[in-house]
Amino acid sequence: MKIIFSIIAPIFNEKENLPELYRRVKEVMEQTRESWELILVDDGSSDESSDMIRALAKKDQRVRPVIFARNFGHQVAVTAGLDYSRGDAVVIIDADLQDPPELILDMAKKWREGYEVVFAVRAEREGESWFKLWTASLFYRLIYRITDVKIPLDTGDFRLMDRKVVNVMNQMRERHRFLRGMSAWVGFKQIGVEYKRAARTAGETKYPFRKMLRLAINAVTSFSYFPLQVATVFGFFSAGIAILAMPVVIYLRASGSQAFFGQASTLLAVLFLGGVQLISLGILGEYIGRLYDEAKGRPLYIVREAPEDK
Ligand code: UDP
Ligand code: MG
Repeated sequence: MKIIFSIIAPIFNEKENLPELYRRVKEVMEQTRESWELILVDDGSSDESSDMIRALAKKDQRVRPVIFARNFGHQVAVTAGLDYSRGDAVVIIDADLQDPPELILDMAKKWREGYEVVFAVRAEREGESWFKLWTASLFYRLIYRITDVKIPLDTGDFRLMDRKVVNVMNQMRERHRFLRGMSAWVGFKQIGVEYKRAARTAGETKYPFRKMLRLAINAVTSFSYFPLQVATVFGFFSAGIAILAMPVVIYLRASGSQAFFGQASTLLAVLFLGGVQLISLGILGEYIGRLYDEAKGRPLYIVREAPEDK
């Protein structure tokens, strides 16, 4: 049977949200009167999520379970969902119902109008700490400024993509993934629809600060050389100062001035430049580490159980 809509939800310890997710997605998708599938990717959950997914799949053939051998992270879980999706339009949605499934209907309408990527723009967010809101807002603006792809502001992974787009994305096997960047990078006809981001229905965020920072670093390194260029600019800047200062220092010395005597000034300069050099090395290291990961060419994820047909 031909599938029109694939809905992908990554699941990491979401046992409280799974039944409600299934219920609401089903309710919405039945309104479209089209064939659909719900791909639940279990990203190495340690609660009962995997068993619940299996049970759902048993009850409803439209639920396709992909169960990972361990936790590979949100972006990789969604990637697996894309690999296993068969629909003409593919929707990525969070399992915690922060993204209202009802918006899929609006997205589908835009898709019918000929748009190939319909992303959801968070006009408002509920029930999130000021720290998360502030860091998220800063992050989106920073990425917008320094990367070469214009990733729409305040969008998450909640989006609908046409099969053409998904096929292209599925060929992009980079390891450190930033899907919203990748889906902006491919081009095609894109449009946003606004929505109000609700609070998590149950459970707590699976994105602690550490994971958020990882995602941000992946976003920057995947789409720009800006950090490397900062090091270069800084190098020129400090070399420039040194060249300008040289004649001044020679003159002062020759004229018997006591300025720049003592260790403090030397120590400061050495520490400062040492610090800058170490930071630059660290930045280089980030890129080299990513190169190394790509060179190893390991699979992006390992599945324990997955549907036979991809
Ligand atoms: N998630 C995942 N693997 C992870 C972390 C999160 O599959 O390692 C899933 C999680 O189950 C949820 C989605 O990614 O469906 C978004 O996570 P969360 O709601 O915790 O992020 P937040 O909304 O707080 O940014
Ligand atoms: Mg969430």
